[in-house]
Amino acid sequence: MEQLQTLRGMVDLLPEATARWQWLEATARNHFRRACVSEIRTPLLEATELFARGIGEGTDVVGKEMYSFSDRGDRFCTLRPEGTASVVRAAIQHGLLSQGPQKLWYSGAMFRYERPQGGRQRQFHQIGLECLGFSDPRSDVEAIAIAWDLLDALGLGQLQLELNSLGSREDRQAYRSALVGWLEQRQDQLDPDSQQRLSTNPLRILDSKNPQTQELLQEAPNLEQALSEDSRNRYEQVKSGLSALGIPFVCNPRLVRGLDYYGHTAFEITSDALGAQATVCGGGRYDGLVEQLGGPATGCIGWAMGLERLMLLLGEGIGLSNTPNAVVVSQGKTAEALAVQVARRLRKMNQSVELDLSGSGFGKQLKRAGKSGARWAVLIGEEEAERGVLQLKDLQNGESQALNLETLEKDWPSS
Ligand code: ATP
Ligand code: MG
Repeated sequence: MEQLQTLRGMVDLLPEATARWQWLEATARNHFRRACVSEIRTPLLEATELFARGIGEGTDVVGKEMYSFSDRGDRFCTLRPEGTASVVRAAIQHGLLSQGPQKLWYSGAMFRYERPQGGRQRQFHQIGLECLGFSDPRSDVEAIAIAWDLLDALGLGQLQLELNSLGSREDRQAYRSALVGWLEQRQDQLDPDSQQRLSTNPLRILDSKNPQTQELLQEAPNLEQALSEDSRNRYEQVKSGLSALGIPFVCNPRLVRGLDYYGHTAFEITSDALGAQATVCGGGRYDGLVEQLGGPATGCIGWAMGLERLMLLLGEGIGLSNTPNAVVVSQGKTAEALAVQVARRLRKMNQSVELDLSGSGFGKQLKRAGKSGARWAVLIGEEEAERGVLQLKDLQNGESQALNLETLEKDWPSS
C-alpha cells in the first residue's frame, strides 16, 4: 500500500527537535513574564473577512497565500496566516481595550501557501508581541528591545536590526503617488511582480528582491524625504531611544512591511547565517488596524518571529533535557507490579522516571539504565519485593543502598 506522507510544506517535529522547541518556547515565556506581557490564544480558524480587512487585499498573503475554504455551514473560513489580526479582533470582541492598554504575546502555527524551501514552510510557527493602546515612541523602543533581548536570551548573536519610518497615512499617500508617477514612466523596466504591485500595493515594490528593480529604485523618490516634520521627529526619538539602550541598528529607507496597516516605525531583524530567508523578526506600528476592524482609534506596535528560522540559528546541544533522573528495573511478577507503583510515587516527588517494561533480564535492563544517562537505577527483585525493600544504585559511582518501601519518599536522596 502506498505510504501516506505529510502535505507539501507541512513538517513533523520529532522528539529530538521538540526538546529544542520546548526550550525555545520556555525561554520566550519567561522573557515575556519578566516584561509583564500576558499570553493570548486565539483560534487557528477565523472568518476570511478578518484577514481581507485586517491585512489588505493587495498583499501577497491575502492575494495568493491563504488557506481558505467554506465550511459545512457555508461560512468562508481561513487558517490564520499571521497573528496580529486575530489578536486585535479578540481585543475588540472582548472589550480588552476599554480596560486600558494591553501588552500581549502569542505563539502558534500559521499557514501560508508559499513555495517551501529552507526556512519557509506552509505551516510554520510564530511568536509575536502586540502592544495595543500605545502611541508614544518609547513603546516602539520597548517593543524592539523586548525582541532584541529575547534573541539575546536565545544566545543568537550576529543579528542586524534594520529600521525605517513609513510616516503617517498622509505622508504615505503623498509618497505613494510620487512613487507611482515615477514608476509608471519606467514600467517596462520593472519585473512582472512589481508591475502588478504598481496598482495593488506600490510601496511593496521598494522591497522587491529583483536586482534589476532594486537598481532602478536607486533613483526613485525617497521615502525618508517624504516624511513630515512630525513623522521625522518621531523617527528621531525612536532612534535615540534605541541608541540610549545600546541597541545597534541601520536605517533602511526601502524597508516596507508586506502588510497594509503598517505606518511610522517598521523594522526587521535579520541574520546573515540564514541565506535567502534572512528575516527572523519583522514588525512595526499599525495604528490604523483597530479602527479598520471596528474598534476605537488605538496606537499599536508589534512584531512576529519565525520559530523555524530561530531553530535554524540555535546552537547544537541546546534543548530541554529528556534524560530521566531514575530508571526503575524489575524482574518477577510481584516486583514488576511493585515497579509500576514505585515509578508513580517517584514521579509524584517530581522525579523524571523511566519504567523499564521490556521484561528482559536484570543485566540487560541495568545496562540500558546506564546508557540512559540517568543518575539512579531502582532495582526491584522478586525476593526484595516480598520483603518491601528496593536497591537504589548510584549510576555515577556504582554504590548501592537498600531503601525501605514504606519510607521511600523520606529516604530518597536529595541530590
Ligand atoms: P518573508 O519576507 O520571509 O516572506 P514576511 O514579511 O512574509 O517574511 P511576516 O509576515 O512579517 O513575514 O512574518 C514574520 C516572520 O515570520 C518572518 O520574519 C519569518 O521569520 C516568519 N515567516 C513568515 N513566513 C514564513 C514561512 N512561510 N515559513 C517560515 N517562517 C515564516
Ligand atoms: Mg512572506
